[in-house]
Amino acid sequence: MSLKNLNGVHIPHRKNTAGLQAVRMPPPATVTIPLSMHIGRPANCVVAVGDHVDVGQLIAEPGGFVSSPVYASVSGKVKKIEPMLQFMGATCQAVVIESDGEMTPYANIAPPEITDYDSFIKAVRDSGVVGLGGATFPTAVKLDVKDTSRIQEIIINGAECEGYITSDHRTMLDRTDEVMEGCRLLEKWLDVKKIIIAIEDNKPDCIARMKEAAAGDDKVEVRALPCMYPQGGEKVLIYHVTGKIMPEGKLPIDVGSVVMNVTSVATLAHYCTTGMPLVEKCITVDGSAIKEPKNVIAPIGTASGEVIEFAGGFKCEPKKLVQGGPMMGVAQYTLDAPVAKGTSALLAFNEKDARPVTPSACIRCGGCIDHCPMKLMPCELERAYEKQDAEALKALKVGLCIECGCCAFQCPAHRALVQVNKLSKVLVRDYDARMKTLKEAGK
Ligand code: SF4
Ligand code: SF4
Repeated sequence: MSLKNLNGVHIPHRKNTAGLQAVRMPPPATVTIPLSMHIGRPANCVVAVGDHVDVGQLIAEPGGFVSSPVYASVSGKVKKIEPMLQFMGATCQAVVIESDGEMTPYANIAPPEITDYDSFIKAVRDSGVVGLGGATFPTAVKLDVKDTSRIQEIIINGAECEGYITSDHRTMLDRTDEVMEGCRLLEKWLDVKKIIIAIEDNKPDCIARMKEAAAGDDKVEVRALPCMYPQGGEKVLIYHVTGKIMPEGKLPIDVGSVVMNVTSVATLAHYCTTGMPLVEKCITVDGSAIKEPKNVIAPIGTASGEVIEFAGGFKCEPKKLVQGGPMMGVAQYTLDAPVAKGTSALLAFNEKDARPVTPSACIRCGGCIDHCPMKLMPCELERAYEKQDAEALKALKVGLCIECGCCAFQCPAHRALVQVNKLSKVLVRDYDARMKTLKEAGK
């Protein structure tokens, strides 16, 4: 594939921790487990204050079809159940568990009995797995396609195209067998004809390891992709792997594709072979303010500050803390923000790296258009937003923006183009709701 076909940007990789095996941290004194760590309805709490829970015990069941169960990540006592402010700004209920330090596995943990498609989908749901690369869409909903003949291929996303983050990289090296076991489960129960493990070509060790593991399985192909951000974006990946374009408002399965994050696949296999659901997460801790960058395996609900402390703490005063990667991550205001299912990185930056940029006037260079992987016109979207023109924003297809940040990254005028698009989506949503109300009222 020629790079000429690819829109996007070349970002500094800074994969400083790729060569370091992930290290499991000791259990923290308390965990604060949000009951909404996925797209869809929050999970409903099934424990009470004072209950004793063990690792892997259900603490909240799915609150609807698009939802996911939540499990205790440490053994101990439920101390509080209270609302918390999530790192994205929304509030949800959270279960605070005081750890007894024992990490006792729940007695009923046992591999699920899988005999057919329905019992496989139930197992996927019970595993608590969601899009672990950060998308957090419940995997059971993604795989519940009813008619498996609709699936032309499953793409296993090992692109990990963001800077710094290497947790999927370590999954491919440290959990190779679980990735392959996950592929075999998908082949068997979804009757999949083709699985493509897609990896950016800046990870030759992962490509070699996965190729070696997949040798002899003619349904599994390991595909090296050109290194260009945002190669791992779902729509971008489908296009670059299959050439198929996802129409606006459609799902990958509407074009015959399913995309799963590589760590989601390994975690699903872990559940199906051991019965232990998703209770911990491997997180890349890095950035210019971190003393000992490393990949840390932490119980879900561990405070960010404690994970950073395990990585040696700060080597200078941190000026910016980000949950996620430098392109799509969200700045944090507190070190108390807990590790959630979708947390793949905690980055802390010193004053130099965190210095704010001052925007100047757009010089109409067109760079944002040239680099947008969705072929949008970010500078025009910004103009439409300034006029609060919802119809123009819709015509310019703001809904297709994947918030990758390529436009802002390369803008010589440092325009806050991604933030504007996020606000524009809210504007369009409110506008459509108002229009619907007026229409229903016959005005
Ligand atoms: S890249 Fe920046 S300066 Fe250039 S057209 Fe886009 S918004 Fe304007
Ligand atoms: S407009 Fe959206 S999709 Fe296009 S580069 Fe900017 S953030 Fe990415």
